Amino acid sequence: MTLETAAIHVETSPVHGQGVFAARHMAAGETVIEYVGERISMAEAIARHPHDPGDPNHTFYFQLDNGDVIDAVRQGNASKWINHSCRPNCVPDEVKGRIFIKTCRPVFRGEELTFDYGLVSDEPMTEALKARYACRCGAKKCRGTMLAKTLPGEQTSL
Ligand SMILES: [Zn+2]
Repeated sequence: MTLETAAIHVETSPVHGQGVFAARHMAAGETVIEYVGERISMAEAIARHPHDPGDPNHTFYFQLDNGDVIDAVRQGNASKWINHSCRPNCVPDEVKGRIFIKTCRPVFRGEELTFDYGLVSDEPMTEALKARYACRCGAKKCRGTMLAKTLPGEQTSL
């Protein structure tokens, strides 16, 4: 896919593991890449988790509005390396069951691309749970966790 190779590249990230970086300047609202992977049910996603027992809370899942999950470990592309940030420069946009990662502000060449994972957990929001999904994005207003701000019970998922 030419868009992928032209606009972004993957390299070691200061935030976590691998990251995705802008290879050129981008305007706000540009589609960067589609988040692709195998489409599975939530039950299957829970059965497969964790992908890496040594890093159990590292997820390559993206939950769709209908509750299904995209597992980017299988059939995924570079988008699976995009890290979370509490002050992201990209947003995921779901269009007819497909996820497109778009810029939400202008991005300079060399910037790491991020979006807010907004993870949702069935477990009660405790300090221990927050710590398991600790965020190290370094944003001034980092909320300290990759979990969404929603209250427990509002949504069901991972
Ligand atoms: Zn953060």
